[in-house]
Amino acid sequence: MTKIDDLPIRDELRGKSPYGAPQLDVPVRLNTNENPYPLPEPLVLRIAERVTEAARQLNRYPDRDAVELRTELARYLTRTGGHEVTKDQVWAANGSNEVIQQLLQTFAGPGRTAIGFEPSYSMHALISRGTGTGWISGPRNEDFTIDVEAAVAAIAEQRPDVVFICSPNNPTGTAVEAGTVLALYEAAQAARADDRGALVVIDEAYGEFSHRPSLLPLIEGRPNLVVSRTMSKAFGAAGLRLGYLAADAAVVDAVQLVRLPYHLSSVTQATALAALEHTDTLLKYVEQLKTERDRLVDELRAMGCEVVASDANFVQFGLFDDAQATWQAILDHGVLVRDNGVPGWLRVTAGTPAENDAFLDAVRAVLKESKR
Ligand SMILES: *Cc1c(COP(=O)(O)O)cnc(C)c1O
Repeated sequence: MTKIDDLPIRDELRGKSPYGAPQLDVPVRLNTNENPYPLPEPLVLRIAERVTEAARQLNRYPDRDAVELRTELARYLTRTGGHEVTKDQVWAANGSNEVIQQLLQTFAGPGRTAIGFEPSYSMHALISRGTGTGWISGPRNEDFTIDVEAAVAAIAEQRPDVVFICSPNNPTGTAVEAGTVLALYEAAQAARADDRGALVVIDEAYGEFSHRPSLLPLIEGRPNLVVSRTMSKAFGAAGLRLGYLAADAAVVDAVQLVRLPYHLSSVTQATALAALEHTDTLLKYVEQLKTERDRLVDELRAMGCEVVASDANFVQFGLFDDAQATWQAILDHGVLVRDNGVPGWLRVTAGTPAENDAFLDAVRAVLKESKR
């Protein structure tokens, strides 16, 4: 049988495995940061309506520039992000992973590097590899905040072309302060002052769940700063595949140099537009999830667990001598959480109140068993 490594693939892909959380068929799955609430029925019907309309014109290519969708995304950001943006400052693609890929294709690639501060979202490193971009793993403090001094030093020394700042950070839930972003931005521009600076990408996939306002206003007057967002989490539409960015209009022009023609299907555009009509309802679910997230933090702490303060729809908890064994023990009680490979820690996604109760019961039982 032919194996991957028998094929003439790129050297840097040899022996690597694809991204993927193990998906197991258990009653309670709290491992992929999905929104537990299905889309409300009126929205489902509106999607059917808009997709029907789009289907009548599927013989034609979609709007290549997704102007209507970018206009509505700009309106949403302006309303919720604390900063006015126009459609010219917004770009959309198939998930924020594709947004990140397009950014790396445009601003990084072979001979260039990107830095992230780990533990963080592993796709930043994986998409870097996929685009031939060298990856630099930057430091964090023990409490999982970014070690600003060390980060600035790493940027000055390594002179990366792209800097990733994930806020709130996955898998730790840690929000990043505006001052930290500004310090890293300045350092990145100074390090590459001879070369028009460096791109700084704030990944705000969980922005809507944060206690703090969006970092979006920071793009003002900073043409090398990008905020990326997604409809996969807060909008409860992971299956839709719709991510977007806000930045200087020049960044939007630049990514169009690498995007595939007609990359965003008419069906995707129609579905996303329908979802944006129901923003208020969807954001009410976000409020419920924030309450549940805070309850998870409180109850885990009451059980004696260590919990990292969370601004996302998930919680990192520990500290376990053997996180993998604890992951398995929780799974044996019918609840799937995530082991992100951060030593001693596990991550649980906030689900429905009933799912969270099942999770908390499972942890309680596991802690009791381990004391015996
Ligand atoms: C889930 C997640 C995304 C979302 O990716 P999509 O491609 O939009 O589904 C992006 N960034 C981070 C940090 C995430 O956790």
